[in-house]
Amino acid sequence: MKKHLKTIFAFAMAATMIFAAAGCGSSPEPTSDEQNVQSTEGEEEAEAPSESGDTLIMATNAEFPPYEFYEGGDVVGIDVEIARAVAESMGKELHVEDMAFDSIIPALLSEKADIGAAGMTVTEDRKASVDFTDTYVKASQVIIVKADNTEITGADSVEGKVIGVQLGTTGDLYASDVTDTVERYNKGFEAVQALSQGKIDAVIIDDQVAKALAADNADVKVLDEPFTEEEYAIAVKKDNTELVEQINTALKELKESGKLQEIVDKYITAE
Ligand code: GLN
Repeated sequence: MKKHLKTIFAFAMAATMIFAAAGCGSSPEPTSDEQNVQSTEGEEEAEAPSESGDTLIMATNAEFPPYEFYEGGDVVGIDVEIARAVAESMGKELHVEDMAFDSIIPALLSEKADIGAAGMTVTEDRKASVDFTDTYVKASQVIIVKADNTEITGADSVEGKVIGVQLGTTGDLYASDVTDTVERYNKGFEAVQALSQGKIDAVIIDDQVAKALAADNADVKVLDEPFTEEEYAIAVKKDNTELVEQINTALKELKESGKLQEIVDKYITAE
């Protein structure tokens, strides 16, 4: 009997280990280095943190350097620092939730997060579901091609090509306007990787992110001619006027004191 129990126990242990290993293997994100960040990717039910009064929950997609990316176990970057300064001015502590970019607006609507700060471009479409604060940075969409590509030189010559984008972004939107063959990736990094492997012809993505991704990949180059001009703002659930006003006041202070520029300069070196 005792021996039998021992066998069952050993079997259970082995099964647990196999499941744990399988879980690790399929995990899409770094696991050991996420102490300060909760990833909601793949999780069904996150607690409703926006109800805790002293925390400001920021939904983001930490695959977007230099605005949000992992450094060790922490999500850092321009948006994180701006959001932290905003939270501080409201007497709150910032908590970052990392998720897929196209989950950010749903997270605001379901009140799992208070703010979406993710290099998010203000668009009329998005304004139909969320409110935006004042803008805090100007950006553009640019084209990345293979370093030796002489055929694609700008917006006109990318028409009809196989274009890689990050799912649900403005790059996705613009690419869909100029070609029927859009390859959508969860991470901009994956699109650039596919480009350097010759699987796609070009990537359309935000300018600073393009530069950051291209800096790590000698096989690709960023074209000078911008595809669009756009502006980033923080998104909040509709009709949350008080929160928008609080954030706008904080953003104004950050702009006037030069702190916002200081944060940007810390991550983006002027050309
Ligand atoms: N600025 C782009 C957008 O709003 C991309 C943002 C992102 O991928 N984090 O769609």
